Amino acid sequence: MLKQYAEAKAKKALLILMLKYILPILLLFALIYGIIFLLVLMLGNLSSQESENLTNGQVGNVSQEVMQYKDEVTKYAKQEGVEDYVGIILALMMQESGGRGLDPMQASESHCESMGCIVNPEVSIQQGVKYFAQTLNRSNQDVKLALQSYNFGTGFIDYVMQHGGKYTQELAIDFSSMKYEQLKHQGIYSCVRPEALQYNACYGDIYYVDAVLQYYNFETPIGDGEWAVPVAGAVNITSPYGWRTWGDGSRENHKGVDFSCIEGVTPIQAVEKGRVIYSGFQVNRDGSDGYGNLVMIQHGNLISAYGHLSKLDVREGDTVKKGQQIGVCGSTGESTGPHLHLEAKTSEWSGHQNPAALLGL
Ligand SMILES: [Zn+2]
Repeated sequence: MLKQYAEAKAKKALLILMLKYILPILLLFALIYGIIFLLVLMLGNLSSQESENLTNGQVGNVSQEVMQYKDEVTKYAKQEGVEDYVGIILALMMQESGGRGLDPMQASESHCESMGCIVNPEVSIQQGVKYFAQTLNRSNQDVKLALQSYNFGTGFIDYVMQHGGKYTQELAIDFSSMKYEQLKHQGIYSCVRPEALQYNACYGDIYYVDAVLQYYNFETPIGDGEWAVPVAGAVNITSPYGWRTWGDGSRENHKGVDFSCIEGVTPIQAVEKGRVIYSGFQVNRDGSDGYGNLVMIQHGNLISAYGHLSKLDVREGDTVKKGQQIGVCGSTGESTGPHLHLEAKTSEWSGHQNPAALLGL
């Protein structure tokens, strides 16, 4: 009887102990796991959004040599079903060759397994785009994995698929050092990048993805102002509004903002909807060089002006939409090199203000 009572008491004590101490600890663990699970879900979402953005971007600041192949790249990208990746492929070409030579996509090795067998840029582009599309498919649309495989070879895709299935910089380093270990006795490898030496990762270029993406724009750059940015592609202000001093010491009040752009290539776009009030070649009253090919658009009380264009795509009296192409970047008129000169003003030749504020830049 006494023994039974003691046992029941002990059980009760154990139950109380569990409720009092162990249950809260279990609940706490469950809470922590829950939070970690949610965080992983959110991070997964973020990274998938990031790779989606890789198709929404525009052509970045690639050379004119690369831009001359844009139509051919677009043609073969459509054939291969990767037309959303034209900007990426042009960035890839920029990294491979800068658009120079007879094999601008450096596609010979994937074409015939020897260097230098392609001697025609169009064959190079056709083969390079095809190879990129194949690696992208095998990578399950992981653009970074596809890009790194363009440099490492498709063995890297198999390696990543066995190690988590998603490109990371660490996997690129691991793969490179593994391959380097296998091949270094042949003595044909030297490190492309001194930074790779510390990881013993001298096979290929472990920073290839970053190298390509520096030539790519992830988002349509529109700024967060009421006006849209007028240059397609990378936004780079080369001369701000206001007083500036030239190399010879002379000073000038710069009544607009200058953007870098590629002559004959970069589309110039209307900052806001409006009506074209000027489109033509402008020369100063004294006959000296002025804005060159100039477009002016009236939007309510404000006028936007676009100078030094190589080509005019609108006529006086046209109505234009925000973001509509009105011309092409150039260096006409008083200009030292290709750029867009953008002005904001209240009347055609006066009332200037700083466009950067309207653009949110
Ligand atoms: Zn200017």
